[in-house]
Amino acid sequence: MRGVVSMADDTKALKRAVKFRPVILILVMLVLTGGRAWGADLRSTAPTPGAQAETSPSLPPPMPVVRYVVEKGDTLWGLSRQWGVSVECIQAGNPDAQMMPGEVLEIPRWECRVFWAKGGELLTDLADYLRMPAADIARANRLREDAVFTPGQRVWIPLEVPANGVCREEAYVRTPEGDHWYARFPWPAVGCVSREFGSDGLGRHHGIDIAAPFGHGIICPRDGWVVEVGNNDSPTSPGLGTYIKVAHEFDEAGNPMLWTIYGHVSGFNVALGEVASGVGIRVRAGDVIGYVGNNGRSTGAHLHFEVWLRGRPQDPLNFLVGAGS
Ligand SMILES: [Zn+2]
Repeated sequence: MRGVVSMADDTKALKRAVKFRPVILILVMLVLTGGRAWGADLRSTAPTPGAQAETSPSLPPPMPVVRYVVEKGDTLWGLSRQWGVSVECIQAGNPDAQMMPGEVLEIPRWECRVFWAKGGELLTDLADYLRMPAADIARANRLREDAVFTPGQRVWIPLEVPANGVCREEAYVRTPEGDHWYARFPWPAVGCVSREFGSDGLGRHHGIDIAAPFGHGIICPRDGWVVEVGNNDSPTSPGLGTYIKVAHEFDEAGNPMLWTIYGHVSGFNVALGEVASGVGIRVRAGDVIGYVGNNGRSTGAHLHFEVWLRGRPQDPLNFLVGAGS
């Protein structure tokens, strides 16, 4: 399964390989893509250095890798639909996956393959070898461009870097203050939407309900700070039960500008005392911040999920990968 390891035994091999680029490149692409003719995609979607310079510091770090705990009934195909990457991509990063409940998979946010390092290889040599910008590999792995790989290190190789350099899909939101583009989030919990955003027979709903089973992990979909945890009556959304609020972006004055709320949770994975201190707790995309529950105004286990932008609730489906417009 780990055939990619053999594509470069050491740094010397990488350097040698660069000299025979045309032939080697094709071979590498075949290895990376499992024989599929996706080489053209790799070349055509790699961003130019100029495009990267436009990345604003307020955008989230690229390609958070989600740590996903396999549940009964999960399939690779189902997970690929859920997270918006191919089955091959998930398999490349988790070559020993058995899909047994409780097993932890690492699921990248971009379509990618994996280079398993022998140790001592330079990131820049790998980039040369693949004819990709070293910055892409560095960003995808949260490494510096001058990184040297350690033995057995899993190095994500992004195959489909989006035009914005951040995410394959963007959310576009128009507010009175202006237009906003955001990289779409992965889903914070796995399940179907049992109640949508907006007004319905039950009243006004500031978020969506995701019908996930009791006790399942709530995955933070984007880097941020847990700024509030509490019970029942949030000033904006009464009936939430136990909830978590995560701020993802702040305005110039330091006030949250983009935040998400998770309601009816059965447990926290963050230290309440630290949150109460007012500073907030740093959380990363992919962290399990709490667990699905059924308290407050709730008639069954589910995750109530809200997205707020500049003080206004947004339809979360507009922000979630693969969820619509
Ligand atoms: Zn709800």
